[in-house]
Order: sequence, then C-alpha cells, then structure tokens
Amino acid sequence: MIVARTRTSLHEARARLRGPVGAVPTMGALHAGHLALLRAARRREHSVIATLFVNQTQFNDPSDYAAYPRDEAADLAGFETSGVDLVFAPSVEEMYPDGFGTSIDPGPIGADLEGARRPGHFAGVATVVAKLFNLTRPTRAYLGQKDWQQTRVIDRMVQDLNLPTDLVIVPTVRDADGLALSSRNVRLSAEQRQAALSLSRGLSLAHDAWDDDERSPQALADLVKATVQAEPLATLGYAEVRHALTLEPIAAAEPPLVIAVAAEIGGVGLIDNVVLGNGLLDEIAP
Ligand code: AMP
Repeated sequence: MIVARTRTSLHEARARLRGPVGAVPTMGALHAGHLALLRAARRREHSVIATLFVNQTQFNDPSDYAAYPRDEAADLAGFETSGVDLVFAPSVEEMYPDGFGTSIDPGPIGADLEGARRPGHFAGVATVVAKLFNLTRPTRAYLGQKDWQQTRVIDRMVQDLNLPTDLVIVPTVRDADGLALSSRNVRLSAEQRQAALSLSRGLSLAHDAWDDDERSPQALADLVKATVQAEPLATLGYAEVRHALTLEPIAAAEPPLVIAVAAEIGGVGLIDNVVLGNGLLDEIAP
C-alpha cells in the first residue's frame, strides 16, 4: 500500500494503478461502516484508493472540527488490511493552498435538512469531493447510505459537472442494537448512547408502520419525531419523509422515499435514515 501525502506523489502512484479504480473518501476514525465501503470497492474494482482528510470547510461548527476523532496510524492499518492500494492523506495546505477561492454550491438539494441545520456544510462537501475526484480519477466512488443527503448532493454534482465517476451507495452499517455507526459515536457517554438509539428506534417504528400500509408522510415522520422527543437527552433536528432522489416533499409515502432524522445529543450531531425503493443501494452481499 502506498501512502501519498502530496498531489505530486498521488499523481505518480495513480498513474501506475490499473483500472477500474474505486475511490473511498473518508475523514478517518475508521469503523465498520468505512470497512464495508472498502470491502465493496475491493470486491468490484481492480484498484482501490482511499482518501483520508478531515475537511474543515464542511464543519460549520469549529468545536465539532476540533473534537473530531483522529487516529492516523489506526486508519492506515485499517486501509492496509482492507486491501487498499493507494491512500491519499494530504495536509490542509496541500488541499487548500494560499489563494484557494473556489466553492461549489450544490443548489437546492443541499439547502434544507442537513443543509439548514449546518449552513455551508454541503458546499464544503461538494468542493472537497470534486477535488478528490479530480485528483484520484475514480471509475466509481463508494459512499455510505448513512449520509443519504450527501449521496444526493454528490450525485447532483456529478451529473451537473459531467464528472466521469459513477457512485455506489453502500447500506448503513449498524451496531447490534441498531445505532448507525458514526465516527462521532465515540463522543457519546453510555447514557447519551442509550438516548441515541431513539433515532434508529423511531425509524424502525416508521418502517413498521409503512409495512402496515401507513402512507401519510406526516404520520410516518411524526412517529420518528415522537420517539426522539421522548428522550430527555435528545434534541430533535428534523424528521422528514422525502422523495429519495430529489429530497423534495411528497404527498404520499411511495418509493423511492427516504425517512431522514437528525438530533443532537450531548452536543454531538447524529443522523440516520431509512431508504425504500429498488436499485438505490449496493445490493452485492458483503
Ligand atoms: P466520513 O469519514 O464520516 O466522512 O465517512 C466516509 C464515508 O463512510 C461516507 O461515504 C459515509 O457515508 C460512510 N459511512 C459513515 N458511516 C457509515 C455507516 N454506518 N455505514 C455505511 N457507511 C458509512
């Protein structure tokens, strides 16, 4: 495995990779969710590039950036055992040299839900992902369902800017009790972690209600809201039922749809979702 820290060394190592090439962008603090993306890429691609960069421009809250867990040695070990060929782990200066000024505005798809909760977040995401795609030139990029709106923002950008990369969306990996894995989970106390289970529990209740033919977006969203709001330690951000691809409000809860929830627990922002619809997620079994 080659670790490139500069654009020049990445360029040299990338030129030696044989295609198809899969890219897995990460901010490190690897958990089983990241490993599922790496596994999906390893299975399908000839070569796999992982990127490791905690991108400050997508953090609207400086204290969240400061508190973001970092463990480069463990991350590199995780990439190595996942069969990654090339890691791009640039410095901030390498990604944002003096004079850097361009920003990609993903438009309406990034404006509400997480975009409203975290102003500027998706411009930061779109800009860094465009840079990482241009630098790594992947055939396919592997993204996690957990950040569903992020997948829609990147999909929009890939289409709008004619980027030659296809996206593969890997289903959310959860702990045994249902909590969606997130690098931020390590910042939760045991009690806060219990409260965090209200997100996946609320989504399960809504999913069950949908299975029982509930088709009112409001009624489904209200089930999630009530579950999260019943937790004194949780502050609900939003719970919404939307069209899975456009993220627009829908009159009836018919697929493709996403039920998305966000909450803050002990100062930690958490999100989760359920996606209903065929062909939206990578279906190759791990
Ligand atoms: P991050 O390091 O948080 O930027 O995440 C890197 C990639 O891993 C993103 O595409 C995330 O959506 C994905 N990811 C994060 N958590 C999970 C999870 N629990 N299951 C699947 N993918 C995930």
